[in-house]
Amino acid sequence: MENKEVQQPKENKEFVRDNSFNGKRRPKKRVCQFCADKNAVIDYKDAGKLRKFLSERGKILPRRVTSTCAMHQREVTAAIKKAREIALLPYTND
Ligand SMILES: [Zn+2]
Repeated sequence: MENKEVQQPKENKEFVRDNSFNGKRRPKKRVCQFCADKNAVIDYKDAGKLRKFLSERGKILPRRVTSTCAMHQREVTAAIKKAREIALLPYTND
C-alpha cells in the first residue's frame, strides 16, 4: 500500500480573491484637506488654491471628487462664489 504523502496544502484562495484592494475600487484616503491642516484657511482672495476646486470648465467640483468635508465644502463654495464676483475666478471656462 502506497502512502502518498503529497497532501496539498490548502491554499487560502479566499484571501487572494476577496481582497478589497482588488477590482476597480481602491481604498482611497478620504480626508478633508482643510480638516487635516489646521492652519489652512479658505480665502476667497486665494484664487490659486480655489482653482483646485474648479473643473476645467470652471465648475465647482463635487465633494466626492475633492474629498472635502461638508463643512469645508460650503466654505470653499462660498469663497469661490465671492471670488467670481470680483473676477478672480471664472464662471465658465469655455
Ligand atoms: Zn473639513
